[in-house]
Amino acid sequence: MDLNQPVIHVKGIGEARAVELADLNIHTIEDLLMYFPYRYEDFQVKDLTELKQDEKATIEGKVHSEPSLRYYGRKKSRLTVKVLVGKYLLTAVFFNRAFLKKQFTIGQPVTITGKWDQHRLTITGQHVTFSHQESEETIEPVYSVKGDWTVKRVRHVIHQALHQYVQHIEEILPEELRRQYKLIERKQAVQWIHVPQSHEHLKHARRYFVYEELLMFQLKMQWWRKQEKEKTDGKSRALDQEKIQAFVHSLPFPLTGAQQRVTDEILTDLRSPYRMNRLLQGDVGSGKTIVAAISMFALVTAGMQSALMVPTEILAEQHYESMKDLFEKLEIKVELLTSSIKGKRRTEILQRVVEGEVDILIGTHALIQEEVQFKNLGLVITDEQHRFGVNQRKVFRQKGITPDVLFMTATPIPRTLAISAFGDMDVSTIDEMPAGRKPIETYWAKHDMLDRVLAFVEKELRNGRQAYVICPLIEESDKMDFQNAVDVHAQLQQYFTNFNVGLMHGRLAVEEKEDMMTRFSKNEVHILVSTTVVEVGVNVPNATVMVVYDAERFGLSQLHQLRGRVGRGDAQSYCILIADPKTDVGKERMQIMTETNDGFELSQRDLELRGPGDFFGKKQSGLPEFKVADLVHDYRALEVAREDAAKMVNSAAFWEEDTYASLRTWLLSQVEHWEELD
Ligand code: ADP
Ligand code: MG
Repeated sequence: MDLNQPVIHVKGIGEARAVELADLNIHTIEDLLMYFPYRYEDFQVKDLTELKQDEKATIEGKVHSEPSLRYYGRKKSRLTVKVLVGKYLLTAVFFNRAFLKKQFTIGQPVTITGKWDQHRLTITGQHVTFSHQESEETIEPVYSVKGDWTVKRVRHVIHQALHQYVQHIEEILPEELRRQYKLIERKQAVQWIHVPQSHEHLKHARRYFVYEELLMFQLKMQWWRKQEKEKTDGKSRALDQEKIQAFVHSLPFPLTGAQQRVTDEILTDLRSPYRMNRLLQGDVGSGKTIVAAISMFALVTAGMQSALMVPTEILAEQHYESMKDLFEKLEIKVELLTSSIKGKRRTEILQRVVEGEVDILIGTHALIQEEVQFKNLGLVITDEQHRFGVNQRKVFRQKGITPDVLFMTATPIPRTLAISAFGDMDVSTIDEMPAGRKPIETYWAKHDMLDRVLAFVEKELRNGRQAYVICPLIEESDKMDFQNAVDVHAQLQQYFTNFNVGLMHGRLAVEEKEDMMTRFSKNEVHILVSTTVVEVGVNVPNATVMVVYDAERFGLSQLHQLRGRVGRGDAQSYCILIADPKTDVGKERMQIMTETNDGFELSQRDLELRGPGDFFGKKQSGLPEFKVADLVHDYRALEVAREDAAKMVNSAAFWEEDTYASLRTWLLSQVEHWEELD
């Protein structure tokens, strides 16, 4: 029986209905069977102790008193009746259902569904039946509907489809796996996801599909990853280990254990004949830059070029300065290329890059999008990778360059998301801070405390320290943000008459920004009022205070990034968030900021508050959508599925044995959708 036949084969679905179903994106019988509820109405009778305030609940009891009926005005009425449930006497209230009055007789069994008020032991009834329920159909599926469809009608056609076809649903997962994870049969799961007769059923059905969905998703990822590895002409780089070691020893500080570990992971990749495709994540200030530097140095020892790409020109400039310091004495040629480098100088740099006279080229993403040709580019590193979007990888492929690639990000991504959004990549994590760092103290202040905040800033300035003041993000409009920064700058200039207050925003010319950054880093400017342009990467260790105006307008990870601009030296640093959040979630976010400095914990809590869809921001999410699985709560299943999938695609059994036939067929049928995954 082919469930891919048009849905019109289902009894009761004619031409017209089939057209309507197409609106719900249901074309085949299979589509219909796989049209899952997005939630359930629960009419299960529960024990009173399990009920929650203001939630919908169903209770079962006996009528204990004569109902009393009151009218207000012409049409409005309130019917009240006492109901005995176990040893408790409850009040049931019905509005505008006067007709029910004669149906309540003392001693009669009754089942009432409605809103539960725990404090008054009162249920405001919506449904009532004068008997005790059989346990059947007490959990009702709710489907998303459109146009003329009602949930009832969808339920009806799905029941019909189940009746005719559920027995023909074929298993996809190998028996052995199902046994291993105690998963029910697929047809049972389909039946129960639509018509659960208990929470137990629902749990089993859900468990089944969580695993199936995640496994299939991971199969695609892992297979794609395997193919990428095999097809790309990765090369093993002939690194000079001795020179690399000498370079590491020459650094002003010893690497942390975590830096050492991730460096080894990267160098191993560089030496291997496969193309590196690695994500390096590490909290703000964990020292990713030096790892990048060692990797690029390693390529130099193999006689190859590297490119370092960053999201902003300021950051490019800053990386350029620090790489130059590090490398020039070793006679390694570092160059900067941004869109503001033009004319003769640009031509000259391009020429030197193509001739292989530049070892390390630093710039914005224009590096790979413009006319730059390398002589022998072996490694591309992108810093603060989330700014580029997760689709950056595609650009490399389209350009036909296949260097080793390292993505660095300071936005710690909860592991669940890392392995789903970047499931095709290897992930290295720096989970340790350089020794001697003092945790930044974070405070949340209301707007009416601004005077105290400024007094505090002044105290730090008197001690020779510097401060950032970040201006509110009013909207995604450059103009508004700019205006704000200008206003705040003017105010602070009046307040801090003895100090130099600088201003920075996106509208300044690149030279002006560079100039301002230079003056700030030389401590000629003491307070830097800025829009979020300083968000990533900027490094001025003498700055110890970060003040963020209207902090509730920023995302948690953005606040964490901003906070990471201080605490980069030996001195105690502070982050002060000025915010009057209106919502509970807003308050909670401020609270979280004051409670933890750990970017990973923060991102996990952010994920819980926001849900995975919002985490990366819509445009660059790159996250798959699941019908049943949920990346926040099902992370264990995701890990298991990932391991299983990786094992499968790399095993001969998967490609040969009958038990895997369905999975294999399905996987091969996905080839045409490769682009989506990409
Ligand atoms: P991020 O990971 O945010 O890019 P950076 O690479 O900018 O962090 O490093 C932050 C600061 O820590 C820099 O000033 C850097 O020199 C310093 N640093 C990096 N690694 C170490 C280490 N192992 N010991 C001491 N300081 C370090
Ligand atoms: Mg950095």
